[in-house]
Amino acid sequence: MLPKLYIVIPCYNEQEVLPITGPMFLEKLNSLSAKGKISPESRVLFVNDGSVDRTWEIITELSQKDEHYIGISQSRNRGHQNAVLAGLMEAKDNCDITISIDCDGQDDINAMDEMVEAYLDGCEVVYGVRASRETDSFFKRFTAQSFYKFLSAMGAEVVYNHADYRLISSKVLKEFANFKEVNLFLRGLVPLVGFKSTTVSYDRAERIAGKSHYPLKKMIALAVDGITSLSVKPLRLITGFGIIVALVSFVGVIWALVTALRGNSVPGWASMTCIVCFVSGVQLISLGIIGEYVGKIYMETKGRPRYIISQRTWDKQEKEDK
Ligand code: UDP
Ligand code: MG
Repeated sequence: MLPKLYIVIPCYNEQEVLPITGPMFLEKLNSLSAKGKISPESRVLFVNDGSVDRTWEIITELSQKDEHYIGISQSRNRGHQNAVLAGLMEAKDNCDITISIDCDGQDDINAMDEMVEAYLDGCEVVYGVRASRETDSFFKRFTAQSFYKFLSAMGAEVVYNHADYRLISSKVLKEFANFKEVNLFLRGLVPLVGFKSTTVSYDRAERIAGKSHYPLKKMIALAVDGITSLSVKPLRLITGFGIIVALVSFVGVIWALVTALRGNSVPGWASMTCIVCFVSGVQLISLGIIGEYVGKIYMETKGRPRYIISQRTWDKQEKEDK
């Protein structure tokens, strides 16, 4: 039997791009199904992430035009990661494979052919990896690359240059559903589920329209979230650093005692001030890092829902049918 594919697309305030890219996704779906790679029952699943523009109206219009388009809407904006998760969880019981992709046309949809091919060859997860970043500005390229390097240095295992364009089979998603954490960093979590995986490289284009929702500030927040939800290495670094400072202090104490006993101690204002400033700075940073983890624990213990779906395009049709 041919696998049923759901293309999962998070959309937040994308009224400019959706009318252009929506049909592109459908075309890809149709071509895959014409080639006999996927079932004709496959779907393009949009996840409206609490947009404040016409995004949801566009999605409902599309779904009325063609049954291959379906959509769900989150009750409010919850961020890209939660939107993707909502779509994947919605899809997992209705299909065999999912491909998550951004709706702005930056990720080359032609890589889907290779992804599906890899699935048919027995892979359960296929990561889309950017072959080049020539179209990105130097700044975006530099920050994005530092992002991956920093993550791996901090012990968070991620696939280099892979964002959230990937194929996941429903078999993997069913296991993934048991990862209950509310601090979501999908690209770090998916490798933890395991199963046979591979990568497919593609060229990343520029956004077709609209503008990026990931300025530097959000990228840093995502990096901090990624590290603290995947690894405790920063805590270990603090401990390591604490030990070094303690050892150096020990030498300092002996030096201070010897100097004092010899009777040639001087007021030493400058050295005292430097040490106090330095050590208190280190302590504050350490507290901040520990606080980051405490905050994570706090959010996890609440166990709040990770997404709330307020509307589905097919609900509406059922209502109209009645
Ligand atoms: N997105 C979302 N919720 C948000 C922000 C973004 O669902 O709060 C979606 C957005 O519509 C797009 C994808 O996530 O499909 C990636 O966002 P964007 O293109 O702005 O990020 P970039 O590609 O610049 O990193
Ligand atoms: Mg984008």
